[in-house]
Order: sequence, then C-alpha cells, then structure tokens
Amino acid sequence: MQTLTDTLAQLQSDNLYRQRRITQGPQGPKQIIDGKECLTFCSNDYLGLANHPDVVEAFKKAVDEYGVGSGASHLVNGHSKAHHQLEEELAEFTGRERALLFSTGYMANLGVVSALTGRGDVVYEDKLNHASLIDAARLSDAKLVRYTHLDMDSLSEQINHHGGENKLIVTDGVFSMDGDIASVDKISEIAQQHSATVMIDDAHGLGVLGMSGAGTLELLHLQNDDVPILMGTLGKAFGTFGAFVAGSEDLIEYLINKARTYIYTTALPPAVAEATRASLNIVKNEIWLREQLQKLISYFRDGAVQRGLVLAESFTPIQLLMMGDAADALNVSNKLKQQGILVPAIRPPTVPEGSARLRITLSAIHTEAQIDQLLDALEKVK
Ligand SMILES: *Cc1c(COP(=O)(O)O)cnc(C)c1O
Repeated sequence: MQTLTDTLAQLQSDNLYRQRRITQGPQGPKQIIDGKECLTFCSNDYLGLANHPDVVEAFKKAVDEYGVGSGASHLVNGHSKAHHQLEEELAEFTGRERALLFSTGYMANLGVVSALTGRGDVVYEDKLNHASLIDAARLSDAKLVRYTHLDMDSLSEQINHHGGENKLIVTDGVFSMDGDIASVDKISEIAQQHSATVMIDDAHGLGVLGMSGAGTLELLHLQNDDVPILMGTLGKAFGTFGAFVAGSEDLIEYLINKARTYIYTTALPPAVAEATRASLNIVKNEIWLREQLQKLISYFRDGAVQRGLVLAESFTPIQLLMMGDAADALNVSNKLKQQGILVPAIRPPTVPEGSARLRITLSAIHTEAQIDQLLDALEKVK
C-alpha cells in the first residue's frame, strides 16, 4: 500500500494538492484571507444574505430565545417550533405539501436516495451530478448507472438497458461546476415513459432562478408531479446552513421514518432555522436582488467578450473559464491571488481529467467596479 506521505507527494507533483485558506470577518465580496484583503469570486452566497442585517438580527434574537444547540435529534426532543415553522414556510415556498429539514445537503441526498431505493432498483444519474448524489447511490443497495452529461438519448438508452424494479432519476438543477441547467422537462418525460421517479437537487437554482426564486423548476414551468422530489440547500443563496427535501405528505412521513441521515443526527441549531426564515422572506420578496444578480452576470459576460476571454455557456452565477490543464488553472489562480483576487482553480477529481477550470461565482452584492477589476486582471494574466 502507498504510504500517506507518498500519496501526498504524488498529489503535489500532479498539481492536485488541496489546501485551505483562512478567512476573517463575514462572508462578502471583500474578505481578509490569509491575512490579506482579497476580492472574492468564489462564494455561493449568491444574494449576499450570509451577512444580511435582517438575517443576522433574526439569528441573534433566536439565540436569546433558544440558546445555541438543539440538544437532540428531531425525533427525540430536538425539533423546535423554529424548525417546524421553517418547514411549513419552505413547503409553501416550493408549492409542496410538506418539507423536511436536514442538517446538510450532503446528508439530505444520502438520506433520500438510500431510503427510497434498495436491492433490485436502479438509480440513474447525470455524470456531472454533485458528489453527494453519487455517494448517495453508492450507499444504497441499488445499482448506480450514470448517463452522459445532459444527454437525454444516453439516459433513455441506459434505462432501456438496465431497467430496475424501482427507477430513480436524479439530477442537479444547476450543475455546480459547470453552471449549466438540466433539461428537467425532458427528464420528466422520459421518466413518465418508463415509470421512473425524478429527484432534483437544486442547491444552486433555489433563490437564484425563477421569478419568485423557486429555482430550476419554476424557470422551466414544471409541476410537482413532473418532479416529485425536490432537494434544496440553505447554505448557498439562502446564506445560512442546512438543507431540506420538499414533496408529498407521504414522501416526508416516509423520510421521517426511514432516512437514516435524518433520524440519527442532531437537529440544526434552532437559531439557524430562525435566521433562514428571515432569509426566505428576503428571497421571496426582494426580487430586485435576483434582477441585480442577472444584470451583473450579463455585465461580466459582455466584459469578457470585449476582452477576448472565452467563457463557457452559462447564464447562472456560476461562470467558467476553461483551462484544461490543472497546472495552468492553478497558475492563473495563483497569479490572480497575488493581485488580491480569489478565483479558485477547480481540478480533478472535482471535474473530469483535462477539464480544469477557473470557477467564478457572482453575487448580487458585487459591484460593477469589482467585476471590471476581475476582468482586467484576467485579461492581464491570460
Ligand atoms: C453544496 C451542494 C450540496 C451539499 O450541500 P451542503 O448543505 O453544503 O452539504 C449538494 N448538492 C449540490 C448540487 C451542491 O452544490
């Protein structure tokens, strides 16, 4: 067996070694990172809610009321009124009968897929689905079959070939490392032809897409029956922490009884739920934040064209400059960092071999001047 030291040395020489940076102060376009002021383009805080005064205030108030820890799992005595109200509000927001809070998106995905599928079943997943969805199928006793990214012929072929007692098709709404959007409408048609169930993980779509921020399904005008299982995270556009699954009464009651990552874990701190209720309020009502975000995305893309920078196709806040080689991506990212701009290099195994890239994410609270600064720096280092 290779020693840990050897493996780490190998990662270094392959330019695949990962390291953390230490930030100070709240999330936002300007942060102190590794002791130096930095302009950041890598957060998932798409609407700038992580440090929004209303959200912060709700959190503080709830700490006074509830204390810090929830003390137990939801099924023991950790399920507070704050959690329950948030669940009801998320159900209403997504237009579903019920919603169920999970401690993280990772756990929600593991819990749902492993509770719903087992031996003899097949889980069909887009090749570029989030790692937690891949792990979710692996944890289940079902067979995992992956289809070519966004390729509906590939999905149909795989279903015809592999079948399955129960068939679950799972897709990201917005793909986290590509910024493109799944053709959930077509997936749902294929599912109907094969009596399969569809689950969407809309971690990057909720709050961002659709008139009311209800995400990819709202953007594509899909009905609940088209996609019976919706998973959303609260640590991205909502700016807080945690995740939820929304669906029918039966789905939620089933998960409460069967999803192991729901049952055997401590409930989120109630204050996080209260803060999320405040951010949900902003997501629903402050439509201008989404409009501002779209405006900045167009501003960034137009500016890139003017400077001869070739971006991947995407109208979500996730924008990509493809580099190919991990060393090149890392090199450009390091040069930007020397100029005080943080844009991470995304490398294998997060993305396929040979498709290393710079992943730029925009937030409604970036300014046009900050985007100009990024574009000028990119033009210079390329
Ligand atoms: C971030 C993310 C998750 C995980 O959510 P956490 O709450 O951070 O654990 C799951 N799926 C997708 C697509 C994500 O982007």
